[in-house]
Amino acid sequence: MFPWLDTCFKQLGNRIAADKLHHALLIQGPSGLGKSSFALQLAQLLLCKARQGDKVCGQCQSCLLNAATTHPDLHVVGSEKQIGVDQIRDAIKKLVSSAHMSGAKVLIIYHAHTMTESSANALLKTLEEPTGNTFLLLTTDKPERILPTIKSRCEKLALPLPSLDSTLTWVKTQYDADIDINFAKLFSARPLALLAELQEEQSFTYEIFSAGLDALLQGQTSAMQLAMAWQDSADKVLKWTQYWARQQCTEQVSETVWQLNLQATKVTQQLRNPGVSKTLVLTELLDKLALVKAA
Ligand SMILES: [Zn+2]
Repeated sequence: MFPWLDTCFKQLGNRIAADKLHHALLIQGPSGLGKSSFALQLAQLLLCKARQGDKVCGQCQSCLLNAATTHPDLHVVGSEKQIGVDQIRDAIKKLVSSAHMSGAKVLIIYHAHTMTESSANALLKTLEEPTGNTFLLLTTDKPERILPTIKSRCEKLALPLPSLDSTLTWVKTQYDADIDINFAKLFSARPLALLAELQEEQSFTYEIFSAGLDALLQGQTSAMQLAMAWQDSADKVLKWTQYWARQQCTEQVSETVWQLNLQATKVTQQLRNPGVSKTLVLTELLDKLALVKAA
């Protein structure tokens, strides 16, 4: 288990041992924190036939099936875009059929906030009338989008966030090169997201982005010039602009930050259109960004 989630996982292990785990957990936290991994390991712990505390035995038939990702009593649903009602119905059907392994049965729903209203309604009955030894593990980074009827039937589990120091300590065990501290700050509570960004092939680095912004804010370059230079990395410019905006969120600039975020959302949509001029939309975005700093 990731070090920042270890204590929380141990506590759940104790509750499983005492037969006191709620049958439905809503596991919350930002993306890149490790929620999926947490849910999966919790499911594997529930399924293990010879667990010891928060550790699976690794040798029972359940553990071997889990290692092969073929456990018949572990069901997984998830989509970053939309979880349709058929997916939920199908999963529930499998879940309520008798256990293949005469042990626990687990359904994991990743990105639970993408369930449609009908999907959520299809899940309600199972949440309301749980059958014995059946567990539902829902994960989300947008709990505000989950219907209240679902929320009220789950135990909310907000995963602890790591400090910047623990994030860096862990990332350094996985990544063997220098890490720009300002870049790391953009991801402070999202170690997996930071690692993924670092591992991505980077010809357009955050240092280049950051130096460009400084030049823009000091009037040494224009939004248009940057947009032209950066148009091939439009997705990254957009993403980093949003992270950057989040960091600027103090009361004084909230209105302009809000405007910048609106613009970023608009640009995200515009960039999906293959005919759009990237230079133009990025220029507009960078112009808005310059206003945030001026505010
Ligand atoms: Zn086992």
